[in-house]
Amino acid sequence: MSKRTSPEQTPRIGFVSLGCPKALVDSERILTRLRSEGYGISSDYAGADLVVVNTCGFIDAAVEESLEAIGEALGENGRVLVTGCLGARPEEVLARHPGVVGITGPHQTEQVLDLVHRELPRPHDPFLDLVPPQGIRLTPRHYAYLKISEGCNHSCSFCIIPSMRGRLASRPVADVLDEAERLVAGGVRELLVISQDTSAYGSDIAYQPQVWRGSPVAARLVDLARGLASLDVWVRLHYVYPYPHVDGVIPLMAEGRLLPYLDIPFQHASPRILKAMRRPARSENTLRRIAAWRRQCPELVLRSTFIVGFPGETEEDFSLLLEWLEEAELDRVGCFEYSPVSGAAANVLPGAVPESLKRERHERFMETARAISRRRLARHAGQRMRVLVDESGPDGVVARSPGDAPEIDGVVRLPPVAGVKPGDFLEVEITGADDYDLAGLPVADPEEVRA
Ligand code: SF4
Repeated sequence: MSKRTSPEQTPRIGFVSLGCPKALVDSERILTRLRSEGYGISSDYAGADLVVVNTCGFIDAAVEESLEAIGEALGENGRVLVTGCLGARPEEVLARHPGVVGITGPHQTEQVLDLVHRELPRPHDPFLDLVPPQGIRLTPRHYAYLKISEGCNHSCSFCIIPSMRGRLASRPVADVLDEAERLVAGGVRELLVISQDTSAYGSDIAYQPQVWRGSPVAARLVDLARGLASLDVWVRLHYVYPYPHVDGVIPLMAEGRLLPYLDIPFQHASPRILKAMRRPARSENTLRRIAAWRRQCPELVLRSTFIVGFPGETEEDFSLLLEWLEEAELDRVGCFEYSPVSGAAANVLPGAVPESLKRERHERFMETARAISRRRLARHAGQRMRVLVDESGPDGVVARSPGDAPEIDGVVRLPPVAGVKPGDFLEVEITGADDYDLAGLPVADPEEVRA
């Protein structure tokens, strides 16, 4: 087995580098980063606290050589992290060597470093150690945004994000799950999954699986959601497009493992306008999909945003939008009057809608949305639900239900409750509702229901 360093000693990493020059460059990058972070490099197994094996997976003979090298490192040291081309097929590694502490694919220096940090805490650095393990956050301590990707592969005509932030770049799944774990360890009770397009997660990296907590997890929305659900905190999904594979998260919501909440930026409902907007999933039959989701998970809360007054929007398009909204019965909606963004393709579209008409449509839209919201909230009267406390003081408690995302949705108002603080869960009975918010009374000792 590997020797362990005492906290005062420098942790030392052994390194076995196999494969082609590209793999060698990866090895050099990893070693450079390790050294710059203060880790020692050991030239033998006995002097190492952990061994990294950078593998090759090109032909059968190279795979066998890599598997043998992993076996040797495990036998000599016991604590082995696998990276490189064979790491892109974690099942093959785990089938032969289930005891490895982690696996990453090729060109994944950051992920290797993350795994090393997890196994062997980084040596003390008087500057970096001022930063807590979960990083510096601007949100309250009990909830955090978890960004799973950057950029976007769509080309909505009103948006310039793809030209600003580039194409979709998904974070490796173990990276995201490790961050989520650190956040939860740091006191976070609610994770808000964000990106430009959450449903597309992993499509740019071939859904590459990675080992997390000893099992392979694919970089796919449903698998990621399952991993996050295992952390036993509230998990809320934002910016999801209604593609068929999203159906896979609904059972997790029905089982109470994910919050029954989906934030889907529909933007419009008229096929003509959606086409002009070049929206993703515009050809999906979303009303049918929403109805099926609600049959499976009646508690599901749907949130969305819309744009009114898009170039070319006729009264007919707008009426269609209102009818669609009534039928979809979305719980929470935001609405924006269209305004051109410098550099967006929509700027050259004909049929600009006059400002006064945009305003009028905005008002009519919000009136419809308000009535739906009131109706949807009224059904909670008399129900019991678990809420998460955001504020607590002599004037009362402001909390959120599973259907309320922070900042953008409503709240649940309670009278003052002694000893309750932000981040506590309370069991409440709903006593009333207005257009957007609920009122309730606590029904149990918060200690009994704290997550
Ligand atoms: S609005 Fe469209 S193009 Fe812009 S980030 Fe969202 S999906 Fe991508």
